[in-house]
Amino acid sequence: MIYLVEHFYSIQGEGKFVGTPSLFFRFGGCNMKCEGFGCSEIAPDGAKVVGCDTVYAVNKEHFSRNWAPIESHHELLAVLELYELPGAVDIVLTGGEPLIYANDAIFVAFLEVLVERGHRITFETNGSLGVDFEKYPVYRECVFALSVKLANSHEPLSKRVRGDVIFSVASEAKEAFFKFSIDKDSIDIALEDEIDSITQHAPHIPIYCMPLGGNKAEVEANTEPLIEFCKAKGYNFSDRLHIRIWDENKGV
Ligand code: SF4
Repeated sequence: MIYLVEHFYSIQGEGKFVGTPSLFFRFGGCNMKCEGFGCSEIAPDGAKVVGCDTVYAVNKEHFSRNWAPIESHHELLAVLELYELPGAVDIVLTGGEPLIYANDAIFVAFLEVLVERGHRITFETNGSLGVDFEKYPVYRECVFALSVKLANSHEPLSKRVRGDVIFSVASEAKEAFFKFSIDKDSIDIALEDEIDSITQHAPHIPIYCMPLGGNKAEVEANTEPLIEFCKAKGYNFSDRLHIRIWDENKGV
């Protein structure tokens, strides 16, 4: 069963296409927890759940009563009709981890119609789940923002860094780039080594680093040290425009 957490029409706030008008679909569920990010939210059942800044789209146990079950790709396509879109805008599929649905027939059918209509599709993925490009060629038409998790996520290395998946996506997809969330206290030699060990699996694709944080104050505190890090390493700095503008507000 596919779960849709929310959808909203906004601008892309981070990564290569920052500023681009985009329709976001946030899908529910993830194969990780990333409790190291230390964000927390009170669930509808009253539980305080710790995780990343989208913990409400990750933790099925405590949040799924707010998620919409999707039973047909037409339900997903109907979302486009809810907005006065100025044409075939960018579609961003995020989560949670949207690729937990990569083999779902409803999900694939949705992608195929979007591509047929001329939308650019970007997956915001943690880069740990493989995609069958042979069986589902539609994925070759998509862009993959590989937000591979670092040690600060507190996820085990073998789970968060899958060199075979990174290589496959970077080789087969229309476009791919790395996107790392970094806080100022993590910037050291170990972090540099870690990024090198991840990006070696696809050395030809661009690297974007963005400040970690679930709210404006945290993002701002991490920004300048991260810019210095990017300057030293030759990486691209990516702001998190949506958090800087809308702070902790969701669905914007
Ligand atoms: S992989 Fe991404 S969505 Fe999943 S828990 Fe980690 S940061 Fe959140």
